[in-house]
This record gives sequence, C-alpha cells and structure tokens, in this order.
Amino acid sequence: MRRTGGWPRRAPDRRYVQSVRCPWCGATEDRVVDSREVEQGGAIRRRRECISCTRRFTTVERVSQAVLWVVKRSARREPFDRQKVIAGARAACKNRPVEPEQLEALAATVEQTAWSLGPEVRSEEVGHAVLEALREIDDVAAVRFASVYKGFEQVDDFARELGLLNKDATPQAARELRREERGTSGTATP
Ligand SMILES: [Zn+2]
Repeated sequence: MRRTGGWPRRAPDRRYVQSVRCPWCGATEDRVVDSREVEQGGAIRRRRECISCTRRFTTVERVSQAVLWVVKRSARREPFDRQKVIAGARAACKNRPVEPEQLEALAATVEQTAWSLGPEVRSEEVGHAVLEALREIDDVAAVRFASVYKGFEQVDDFARELGLLNKDATPQAARELRREERGTSGTATP
C-alpha cells in the first residue's frame, strides 16, 4: 500500500498538542519536533520549535490532578515540592562532591517514597526519606542534614547518628563528623 503525504512519523502530534507561549519571543504557535516519555512514563517531554522565531524549547507534562500533600508539624498542609527537597539536600551537600543530577535523582526517589506513603505524608517522613537517600550519596551530607532536620542539640545525637553510619562511613566522613561534633559541643551538656 502506498503512503500518501509527506508527514514524518512524529508529525501527527501537532494536531492534538496545544501550543505553548514561546519563552524567547512570546509567540503562541509552535510545532512539536519530538515527544518522549520520561520518568518511567510518568511524564511526557516535548521538544518544541517556535513558528515565529524558530528557536526551540522544552515542555514537560505531568499528571496534575493527584496532589501529594505534606503535613507540617504545625498541621498545616502543603503540596509536595521537589525544589524544596533539592534545596534542603543541596544545603547539606555544600562543598561536598555531589552533582546537581544526583540531587535531582534524590528528589525523584524521595517523591516516589512519599507517594508510596501518600497521598498525605508527614514532613518528618519526607525528611527521613531525604536522609535515607543522602546516605546513599554522601555520608557527611547525610549527617549534616540529620543535624538540622532532627534538630540535634546533644553531642549524643551526633554519636548515635555516627553509629548508624559506622558500618560504611569512610575515614574522611568520620573526620568531618568529629569536626562537626566539636562545632556543636559548646551548647551540649557534658
Ligand atoms: Zn519564538
């Protein structure tokens, strides 16, 4: 059978997909040049080309009717925010050899964990998931995060955390931990 017309295979997309305002020139017509599933099918990433200026940009579609709620200590609820998770983890990773991509992956893992507990999770559970994921990436960052997140006030708490990490803590991590312990020992009771 003979194919009619010169449509490339992906072209039918543009008949069903709404255009998005071009971030470069503000025009409201684009054509989709590529669509693919990302995040294990949880989202669709579209590469678009502005009809007006021909520059390209990317959009990502995710299901939005389902909201993952985080319940704070104050009992206030707010939607799960990946960027907050990344910001928190990034702060703990300051001056550590951790790549931005690792933080993105961490946030995705944490979100997955939270969904498995959701659609409503306590902020402590999110914090715990971040801590678990950080342990996989960097021991020092994990302990730093724990010290802020759990509100450690006692050196004992650090020691306990160190105990949790002992089985696979690197010598460098142990050194750094001792340094952080000394840094907080001023407020601790002997
Ligand atoms: Zn444009």
